[in-house]
Amino acid sequence: MQHEKVVIIGSGPAGLTAALYTARAQLNPVVIAGPQFGGQVSLTHEIENYPGFTGGSGPDLIEIMKNQAEKFGARIDMDIVLEVDLEHGSPFRVKTGNNEYSADALIVTSGASPRLLEVPGESEFTGRGVSYCGTCDGFFFRNKKVVVIGGGDSAVKEGLFLTRFATNVDLIHRRDSLRAEKTQQDRAFENPKMNFTWDTVVEEIKGDNKVNAVKLRNLKTGESYEYPTEGVFIFIGHDPNNSLFTGKLAMDEHGYVITDKFMRTSVEGVFAAGEIQDPLWKQVATSVGQGTAAAMSTEQWLAKRESVEKVAEHVKAEVAAEAEAQAK
Ligand code: NDP
Repeated sequence: MQHEKVVIIGSGPAGLTAALYTARAQLNPVVIAGPQFGGQVSLTHEIENYPGFTGGSGPDLIEIMKNQAEKFGARIDMDIVLEVDLEHGSPFRVKTGNNEYSADALIVTSGASPRLLEVPGESEFTGRGVSYCGTCDGFFFRNKKVVVIGGGDSAVKEGLFLTRFATNVDLIHRRDSLRAEKTQQDRAFENPKMNFTWDTVVEEIKGDNKVNAVKLRNLKTGESYEYPTEGVFIFIGHDPNNSLFTGKLAMDEHGYVITDKFMRTSVEGVFAAGEIQDPLWKQVATSVGQGTAAAMSTEQWLAKRESVEKVAEHVKAEVAAEAEAQAK
């Protein structure tokens, strides 16, 4: 078993930022990368809304973050976590594919994954017309026609955002009413660039080098047809990557880990940051801020614990010395 002061689970912006801060605090963190190094950002074609990073791809930004954290002593373990034991308190046990760690403190940054449509063409055209983030990729669809899939808050909000760039945003929903909040719905219905196709599902995403059409099916009539489009934005929900922590950390009704403003979870010594605990903002910039807060809280928690342990040891030594003196 390899003992560490800090183990960070997940290598997206929250995890790599927590690594940078805990490394600079001389805590020698280990980041366990997880199945997708860099998380969702690694799937993003271009990042233009992260302050200070004036252009480049998601993987470019992740590489910079990784190098910066490593420069101060963070170590990256390109492995996945299979199991965590939080039941017995710190030190926590973390079992990976190839190793087993014990960690005084844990920072959970395992992120979230967009739900997939799971239709032919989806994975093939991801980054080439298929996107899961309007804020990230909307700019690349200036004066183009796009479709948005879904009927919740994300689909409607992101659809409205996309009207800034696209000539038309066609929202395709499997039912005949939206579940998004009413004010957003009103805005969407009033927006002349937005159109709505009800009771319809996507059967296939088509293209050559890039997306050029979707194959749709009307669930009421059964009719299938091709609909030309250059962008397919899929917003059918996100799922926090929480399977390792089910029953171990308190979660809200959507499965997001609950944290306080110190990024503390329900287990003392376990902190969380980024999309595993944030159902709302889902931005690199917010994840970086949360990763910073989690790292600083971790550092303070470890320092406090160390000083309490030192006082306890000191008191114990004094009691023992006193007992010895009395015995003489
Ligand atoms: P939701 O789960 O709310 O909505 C997902 C939408 O996708 C639903 O309309 C659903 O259809 C549809 N859908 C699900 N699976 C499929 C599928 N396989 N094929 C086609 N359509 C599908 O997810 P969101 O990401 O929109 O929101 C998640 C949470 O975050 C919600 O609680 C939401 O309120 C909140 N949120 C709040 C925002 C805000 O500004 N307040 C912004 C963004 C999110 P159906 O309706 O038929 O189930």
